[in-house]
Order: sequence, then structure tokens, then C-alpha cells
Amino acid sequence: MSWRDKVDKWEERKRQAEEAQRQRELQEHQARFRCHICDKASEGPVEYQTIAPIGIETDWDTPTGLTECSHCAKLTCDEHIHKCSRCAKLTCDEHIYKGICQHCAERLY
Ligand SMILES: [Zn+2]
Ligand SMILES: [Zn+2]
Ligand SMILES: [Zn+2]
Repeated sequence: MSWRDKVDKWEERKRQAEEAQRQRELQEHQARFRCHICDKASEGPVEYQTIAPIGIETDWDTPTGLTECSHCAKLTCDEHIHKCSRCAKLTCDEHIYKGICQHCAERLY
């Protein structure tokens, strides 16, 4: 094996180790952030561009594809979160009925 092959092999192993590490972190992240209605996991962490140094930062504490319900503060997937037609707050399935959230419904005459 030539020394160049050694460098290639080392690079490949390093890349695989990084990939495996990322998979583990992603699994932990998705175990932590799930829709409380259907158990759908976060689509992944939030990633944002950094300027100095230039690169991509990963925020493992912020899920994507999930929103906090304004009533119970639980994480809810796009399918189970709805906008109240009166107050426009994002509300999970459990606190909205016919497009009207629980708070607004209690104030109806
Ligand atoms: Zn859901
Ligand atoms: Zn809720
Ligand atoms: Zn409302």
C-alpha cells in the first residue's frame, strides 16, 4: 500500500467516524424532540451559517418540523398544529375545534 493510499484510507475512516457520530447525535436529538400527539420526530437540528469562522453551526437544542403549542407548550408536528381563526395562535389538535382555540371558545357568547 502506497503512502498516498494510507492518507486516503485515514481520510475515509475519519469521515466514517464523523458520520457515525452525527448519526448518534441525530438519534439522541430525535428521541428528545417528538410530536406529543403522533410521536413524529424532529426532522433534525437547526443549522445556521456562521460568519467568523465561516461554517455551519448545528443547534441540537432546537428541532425542525415541530412547533410549540401556545396552549400546552408541548411540541407538535405540522400535521397536528393549527392556527386559530380568531387569535391566530398556533395550537395543537387538543386545544382547537373547528378552527377555534380553547381560549377563544371560552370567550364566545
Ligand atoms: Zn403529530
Ligand atoms: Zn396543546
Ligand atoms: Zn384563539
